[in-house]
Order: sequence, then C-alpha cells, then structure tokens
Amino acid sequence: MTTIPRVLIVEDEPSLQETLAYNLERDGYEVLTAADGLEALRLARSQQPDLILLDIMLPGMNGIEVCRTLRREMNVPILMLTARAEEIDRVVGLEVGADDYVSKPFGMRELLARVRALLRRARMQSEGLEPAAETVERHKNLVLGDLVIDIDRREVLLGGESVLLRPKEYELLLFLARNRGIVLSRDLILERVWDWNYSGDSRTVDVHIRWLREKLEEDPSNPQRILTVRGIGYRFEG
Ligand code: CA
Repeated sequence: MTTIPRVLIVEDEPSLQETLAYNLERDGYEVLTAADGLEALRLARSQQPDLILLDIMLPGMNGIEVCRTLRREMNVPILMLTARAEEIDRVVGLEVGADDYVSKPFGMRELLARVRALLRRARMQSEGLEPAAETVERHKNLVLGDLVIDIDRREVLLGGESVLLRPKEYELLLFLARNRGIVLSRDLILERVWDWNYSGDSRTVDVHIRWLREKLEEDPSNPQRILTVRGIGYRFEG
C-alpha cells in the first residue's frame, strides 16, 4: 500500500462522482475516477488502487460484473454503492464478493468511516497482523477484549472463564470473529460454517446466533458483540 491511499471511484452520475472525489481528497486520499465498468477495470489493473468505491448501476458493464471480475484478479477492498436493498445480500455474499456496501442515499461521514475501516483492515492483513478469512491461523489465540478464542484447543474464554460451546457454535463464533467489522450475510454464513451451497434455512443461523449471544453477551437482548444488520445478517464487533 502506498503512503497516501489511492481510491478509485466508479460512479457514472457526475455530481455524485464529484462529491465523492471532493470528500475523499479532503480526507487525504489520492482519487481516481471512472464513469463506466470497462474504464474501472482498466484503471484498477493499471493503477492498483488501495480501495475501490463501486456503483452497481453503470452503463455497459455493471458494478456486479466489475466486482466479480476484479475479485478473480486482485485483493483490493471493494465498497459497493447500492441503491436497492434486495441487491445487498448478493453483493456482500460470495456471489459477488464485495467487502462492504453503503446504500444510496448515504451520508458522507458514514461512507468515509467505511473507507477508513476497510483500508485499516487491508493494511493489517498485509502486515500480517490479522489473518485473512481464508488463512487458517493455527497457533495464535484470537483476543477480542475479554473474549479469547484458543484455536488450538478449540476453547473459548470469557473474562478468563471457559465457555462451553457446541461445535457449530464454536465454528460460527470463529467465522464471525475472524471477519469482525464486516457485514456477513446469512447465506454467506450458511455456506462457510455449514457448507450449504444454497439459500437454505437461514433460521439455522439465527438460532445459533441466539445461543451464542446467550453464552457470550452480558445482555443477550441488547448484544454488544454480535450485532444484527437488519435484513442482511450479522456483524461481529470486537
Ligand atoms: Ca449509477
């Protein structure tokens, strides 16, 4: 990653593109812009941005196709701009592979916070401070405040006390914790934790989440770690 992070904005609406560029530049980023999918691919390949803001509705090749294509080629964090709620599940799921999304209309402050969070996460991963989701880190405990996941022992400690988890609860917790800060759709959780390759019964996820909350949250009805993201899934904060 360069010292000044480079952000590629892919947005065909001129006024929004301009507003985004203005705000990102003011926040200290180097900004590149593209107004269609092919230009986005060209710039992503030649300029190697540190992050891509990608609108879905684009002329020619849409943002979903752009995202899928880039995912096969590079690890750059992709933040999707989406106008339709029904797209979100696919966008952050495996099918498209974006890292995060914001729904239009969005507040600039929220968008900048997401950009910072994704860049921070990418930097930590590249420095080896945090394993990528697909990297199995076998000998390091995951320490999240007073919650410790001992991966070798498959043991979870909360405030130093051992917490008894069923195997699927443990796997779910590990998946959430390894991907903390990221919105995980129910389908993605089903696929990764249960190996289900279909949009199956997402209630399974909800039930296990409830059990985990009962064991790990001080007040399970007001969770502080395992947060519900309405209409999508869950996000682990730790
Ligand atoms: Ca658009």
